[in-house]
Amino acid sequence: MTRKGIKSVSLPYKIDIVSNTTKKIAVFPGSFDPITLGHVDIINRALPLFDTIIIAIGSNATKKHMWTLQDRKTAIEQLFKNNNAIKVATYDGLTATFCKSQGAQFILRGLRNSTDFEYEQTIAQANYKVNGIDSVFIISSPEYGFISSSIVRDIARNGGDYSKLVP
Ligand code: ADP
Repeated sequence: MTRKGIKSVSLPYKIDIVSNTTKKIAVFPGSFDPITLGHVDIINRALPLFDTIIIAIGSNATKKHMWTLQDRKTAIEQLFKNNNAIKVATYDGLTATFCKSQGAQFILRGLRNSTDFEYEQTIAQANYKVNGIDSVFIISSPEYGFISSSIVRDIARNGGDYSKLVP
């Protein structure tokens, strides 16, 4: 079809046009042991991109956690209780399987540095190839890039003050 002044071209290859009326749902998976200002920064900045973000707390039985699954869930729910676009869930098993169960097309992750990138790259490629789930990465804000849940746990374990690192 030719619109006024616009000439139609036929593409030399076939592409599927993805409907842009589908609700965009992202899963933000992690341990959140505990949730930090770095996580909150990523969530806030991803909000304009998605209709719904599901913060998904992985209940990996082999990992030792400092805060219980229920405590982590309650803290995150409390934090975002006024935002209908954010949901909180727990899951076990593969993140991609959980995404499918929620109808989520995207995985949201934060990138602090090249170590995060190296770790994420192959997982993202596998998730796309195997499950068709795309990963969306947001680079941490400089003021939060040094924060990790493990640093908070170290400070907590040694009786220090970590209040400037968590919401
Ligand atoms: P995981 O054990 O899966 O790494 P985390 O709770 O540590 O779970 O992190 C969840 C996500 O949040 C990961 O994508 C991680 O890179 C990101 N993240 C953690 N801390 C920060 C931060 N300070 N800035 C940006 N992203 C972060």
